[in-house]
Amino acid sequence: MRICRVSVDGGLFFGLIEGLSEAGEIGEGTLVALLDGHPFGDLAPEGRILKASDVRFIAPVLPSKIIAVGRNYAAHAKEMGGEVPVSPMIFLKPSTSVIGPGEPVLLPWQSEQVEHEAELAVVIGRLCSDVPVDRVPDVVLGYTCANDVTARDLQKSDGQWGRAKGFDSFCPLGPWIVTDLETDAASISCHVNGEVRQRGSTGEMVFDVAELVSWISSVMTLLPGDVILTGTPAGVGPIRAGDEVSVTIEGVGTLTNPVVDRG
Ligand code: ZN
Repeated sequence: MRICRVSVDGGLFFGLIEGLSEAGEIGEGTLVALLDGHPFGDLAPEGRILKASDVRFIAPVLPSKIIAVGRNYAAHAKEMGGEVPVSPMIFLKPSTSVIGPGEPVLLPWQSEQVEHEAELAVVIGRLCSDVPVDRVPDVVLGYTCANDVTARDLQKSDGQWGRAKGFDSFCPLGPWIVTDLETDAASISCHVNGEVRQRGSTGEMVFDVAELVSWISSVMTLLPGDVILTGTPAGVGPIRAGDEVSVTIEGVGTLTNPVVDRG
């Protein structure tokens, strides 16, 4: 099942996507069946079924918080000059950093080195805490693509990561949530202007999805819609005004955003 969030006639709706092309993209026959309310629990159809070309896709969820995991791929930890942590290393991104597919990543004047980080995002479906590893599937709604946009120069100079990771537009999410993804070996890649910059597999994670959700839920209560960014493979690099940056995850789809100066 693919759950999206769309803007229709000024209203915001969750919806179910039907009839993607063979390549898993929006095509002529793609439809969006609007839902009543939210997708956390029983799904209630609203009644309207619209052509995907007639709606605007927005971020598939608006989380109360985004928990991100640092250095969760050994090759990326190495390129950052750090060791693989012995337990998950987490930080928070503000909900106001979320943007949807097609919305611009805004380069802030405070940074001269903004970089892409392609990541698998886990969307929580139920209020939960202290979730055992084997119960994690019960609390996950699904998965989407994320870009953990980072002002690398500020990350290094500040020590704390709140500013470097927290600017408005620094958390593109989308294009939709896939509820039945196998996360043990999905390919993940990042392209800038069509050129491959990162290529890896979710199988390379130091801590897998179940371990991360369980560990994080032992620290803080997770709410429906909360998002966990699971770390990025090697190959992070700069994005500049005029670029187009894409994150692709096998079985999910592609999240594409233009990059512009914030001004
Ligand atoms: Zn990251």
